[in-house]
Amino acid sequence: MDETKEAYSCPFCDPEILERQGVLNGKLCHVLYCLTPSCNGNVLLIPKRHVLRFEELKQEEMNEMHEMIRKIAKVFPQLYKTDDYLLLQKNGKLSGQSVAHIHFHMIPTAEGGIQEISTALHKRTAISADEMARRTEELRRALKPI
Ligand SMILES: [Zn+2]
Repeated sequence: MDETKEAYSCPFCDPEILERQGVLNGKLCHVLYCLTPSCNGNVLLIPKRHVLRFEELKQEEMNEMHEMIRKIAKVFPQLYKTDDYLLLQKNGKLSGQSVAHIHFHMIPTAEGGIQEISTALHKRTAISADEMARRTEELRRALKPI
């Protein structure tokens, strides 16, 4: 596969999207707010490299994502009133992978939230630009001291 050509049309390699939806910018990875969130607080962890699947991730990228997950988990209780969260990662079309750049969904799950998420996963719609700005700002502010 030609990684450069693929990356050209990839939303997770688009600087404007990274700017608009970004909540954490690491050395090797980003955390973005999901454009079509299953519920409030649904973020995406992605490597900066344009790679398709889990098995292509490097150890250093995994390590940084692990650190990022720990940071995000710390702000979920204050922002979304829950300690619990779902990690969801799909590999290949048959598993339902929609963007050809590996991403982990990290979804806070409040009381009764898992049913809401299961339903939302089948009919996801994009949030407005204003809503995206509000939600990313809320997360960025909460993550600053961590
Ligand atoms: Zn990409």
